[in-house]
Amino acid sequence: MIKIFNFMQASIASFEVSRLPPLTESDEQELTTRLDFELGQLLPMLGPLFGLIVLSFALWDYFIDPAQLLTTFSIRTVCVLAGSLAYIETRLPWSQIQRFAWIYWTHVSAIIICTLVLNDGFLYGLTAITMCVFFISVVTLRVQTFLFVLSVPTLVFILLSAISMPMFGFLNSLMFYFLSIALAFASMMMIRSFRLRAFLLEKTLLHACRHDGLTGACNRQYMSELASREISLAKRHGRPLAAAMLDIDNFKRINDTYGHEIGDQAIQALVKTCSQALRASDYFARIGGEEFACLLPDADEAEALLCAERLRHAIEAIRIATPLGELKFTASFGVAMLSPECADWNALLSRADAAMYTAKNAGRNQTVLARTDHDAAPFPIGAEQKYG
Ligand code: GH3
Ligand code: MG
Ligand code: MG
Repeated sequence: MIKIFNFMQASIASFEVSRLPPLTESDEQELTTRLDFELGQLLPMLGPLFGLIVLSFALWDYFIDPAQLLTTFSIRTVCVLAGSLAYIETRLPWSQIQRFAWIYWTHVSAIIICTLVLNDGFLYGLTAITMCVFFISVVTLRVQTFLFVLSVPTLVFILLSAISMPMFGFLNSLMFYFLSIALAFASMMMIRSFRLRAFLLEKTLLHACRHDGLTGACNRQYMSELASREISLAKRHGRPLAAAMLDIDNFKRINDTYGHEIGDQAIQALVKTCSQALRASDYFARIGGEEFACLLPDADEAEALLCAERLRHAIEAIRIATPLGELKFTASFGVAMLSPECADWNALLSRADAAMYTAKNAGRNQTVLARTDHDAAPFPIGAEQKYG
């Protein structure tokens, strides 16, 4: 008895854990785009297969009612050909789901119309018609789409079966048809929940892989991916691009004096301040303990230096309340411009890093520009231009 109770409790707990958080608008958009893309990949294979099945069922028509073979085969062919219009690339803005709906409507209508032509057709065709409903539950994951795809064949089915069948037969077919819709709907909702869970987990994992746990800023690896893309774009379009490295001054002393927790707060405050001070098109990453990098697309030398100085002053203005009084701190900056000799992000970053170390050696809390690849060696200081 206790075992059963424990099992029930565990089941309820796992249900609580497995509850999905609500999807945001952009999540829903992303999921729809992804499903549309997957459907676009599947349609050229699944659509013709469906068409072939619909055509080949003419053989079954022959066994049911040989006299109607030519008629039903013609109906099947016309409908399948009409459905094939969805494969033709046109300027019409068809979404993948609209293409799928058109193929589904024409093909399932072919089956329904043929059952009307055949002797006792509805009796034999009902299985095929109800089976088709399950197709939708695999392809669509949204209630509106499910109902949209189902709408036309359902109307055709109700209309034709009402005309051609006696009352009891009509009600019987209707009952089975709507029962299969209910089952297909349930399986769609189940598949939807699995897909949503996988989607949200993937998003969470991807975010965790790409961002720093303490601050939420991009991590080194992700910054490298983003920067590589921006660098190749800047090179292709001949646009300027700058990188800045910054490192908190005497951070070890802050940790030793105020403790690691306050040190963490300083790092978090710096990331928040810098992220707010940058443009939406700029990138900011934590690439080490108290080292950060900025990528400034479309920024020329003057703009990059101005931006670094703006960040430096914003960091100077940060105040953190601690039991030992207010904590303020500074950071040193190194700025490097993308140049033709600069092979990649690592090369650009190491130039900015070298300039940053020059700023450290020159007394900290300042910005240094790495002049050229050649001059960018950390020493001598005279090779750099000093600001601040
Ligand atoms: P400099 O001005 O030359 O940069 O001196 P510094 O003391 O900042 O440089 P150093 O590299 O010697 O010290 C960096 C310190 O940052 C050492 C390390 O304990 C601390 N640190 C690294 N990551 C974290 C973190 O996530 N939280 C905290 N609180 N401290 C960190
Ligand atoms: Mg430091
Ligand atoms: Mg450091």
